[in-house]
Amino acid sequence: MYIDGAFVEALDGRRFAVTDPATGEEIGTVPDATAADATRAVEAADRAFASWSTTTVDERADLLLAAWRLMQERTDELARLMTREQGKPLRAARNEVVYAADFLRWFAEEARRIEGGWLPSSRPDQRFVALRVPVGVVGAITPWNYPISMLTRKLGPALAAGCTVVLKPAEATPLCARAVMEIFDEVGVPPGVVNCVTASDPAPIGEVLTGDRRVRKLTFTGSTAVGRLLASKAAANLQRISVELGGHAPFIVFPDADPVRAAKGAAALKFLNSGQACISPNRLYVHRESAEAFAATLCERVGRVKAGVGTGEGVTVGPLIDEAAVAKVAAQVDDARAKGARVPVGGHRLVDGEFARGHFYAPTVVLDVTDDMVIRREETFGPVAPVIVYDDVDTVIDAANDTDYGLAAYVYTRDLSTAIRAVEGLRFGIIGVNDVNPTAARVPFGGMKDSGLGREGGHEGLDEYLETKVAGIAL
Ligand code: NAP
Repeated sequence: MYIDGAFVEALDGRRFAVTDPATGEEIGTVPDATAADATRAVEAADRAFASWSTTTVDERADLLLAAWRLMQERTDELARLMTREQGKPLRAARNEVVYAADFLRWFAEEARRIEGGWLPSSRPDQRFVALRVPVGVVGAITPWNYPISMLTRKLGPALAAGCTVVLKPAEATPLCARAVMEIFDEVGVPPGVVNCVTASDPAPIGEVLTGDRRVRKLTFTGSTAVGRLLASKAAANLQRISVELGGHAPFIVFPDADPVRAAKGAAALKFLNSGQACISPNRLYVHRESAEAFAATLCERVGRVKAGVGTGEGVTVGPLIDEAAVAKVAAQVDDARAKGARVPVGGHRLVDGEFARGHFYAPTVVLDVTDDMVIRREETFGPVAPVIVYDDVDTVIDAANDTDYGLAAYVYTRDLSTAIRAVEGLRFGIIGVNDVNPTAARVPFGGMKDSGLGREGGHEGLDEYLETKVAGIAL
């Protein structure tokens, strides 16, 4: 753990093990925090806030830029660690480190643009000044699927704004969080500004981060169920909240689109991180006219996807994070099959040879998916591409919107009006138009409905950590 500028043990000295999801091997142990450790971290963050919040934006920006540079220099080392701890293939891990570092640079630049205003008054002897000030100590809770970028997306703007932070990373990926703490430590971020508590039982840590009056904001990324629970606790304490939650992204192929290009896009996107991404396409709506060509290309591509240990040559799909994740994916595919779906590619666990000790599910295509199947309703979080054939172009947007989630959506069309109507009609926070990567540090990321509150990245990502103060000045 990292508290008040030092790497420390838990107060009661306990540790827990971290395992490689591809091999089941133990790769390390980390301190196992209790509520007392979390409170100690909040105290450190609270003490540090007084001085950190009054540093100049240049000091904060320079430290963030130094962290950006060091993270980039360590891309290979961090990627190797991430592959062992989280499972994603090395190339994807490298991409994540670069993406993660980009948030540090972006928010270093944004720090210099924290501006207030000089506002007119109706009284001739009065002026108003509006200031943007940091909200205070931030509690940050992150998931395992993007174990470095989900941290920098919160730490970058929090530090840029002048906030201090207590981070609780996911139980499955504390070593990546520790490596990020080492970077902040080495570039000279002052003690107490960033703190990290690792824990096998998240609930007591969550209680502290939502219950301690010194914590003024909660930022959470993870499942909708846990986000809802923590947001309700934070609301009781009137904390500011941002929650980035689950998704169930539609991927719509309009009849005028090139079905081969769309299928290549779906195959590339769906299997990133073994489908364990909140913006992963979960429902592929393909018009009947192009369904055959789309399915043929999709099956051919997915059939060639190589699953394996993330360090293996040519491997593009790694393991799932744990056995529960494999069981959830298997149950969804089995349910679809029982209700009449066809499964021409995959559709089973991978258990032989190099897969024996890890948590693997074969890259899978499910055809003829219908509304009564669980996979149509629930986030899959696994390497399964479910195809739904539709006939009516006028109602496909309604079908796509028929979900409690509203994070990402994808549209393939060659017609500009169709694209614009789709972007306007889809109730999702992020929309890719003939594009499989509609995210970047410089644009806001976040969802509607049960996918969350608030945005990360872009200008809005910094606003989440600032509040406005106004001074009326009599002349
Ligand atoms: P999760 O189970 O909700 O866990 C997320 C984090 O919350 C982990 O650090 C977890 O700790 C912690 N946590 C769980 N219960 C808690 C409690 N009672 N009090 C305090 N903290 C608690 O989600 P996950 O399975 O790690 O992540 C997958 C989900 O995240 C998916 O639904 C995915 O869509 C979503 N996600 C969303 C975004 C986005 O930007 N919208 C990005 C990535 C992922 P432990 O690890 O110890 O359980």
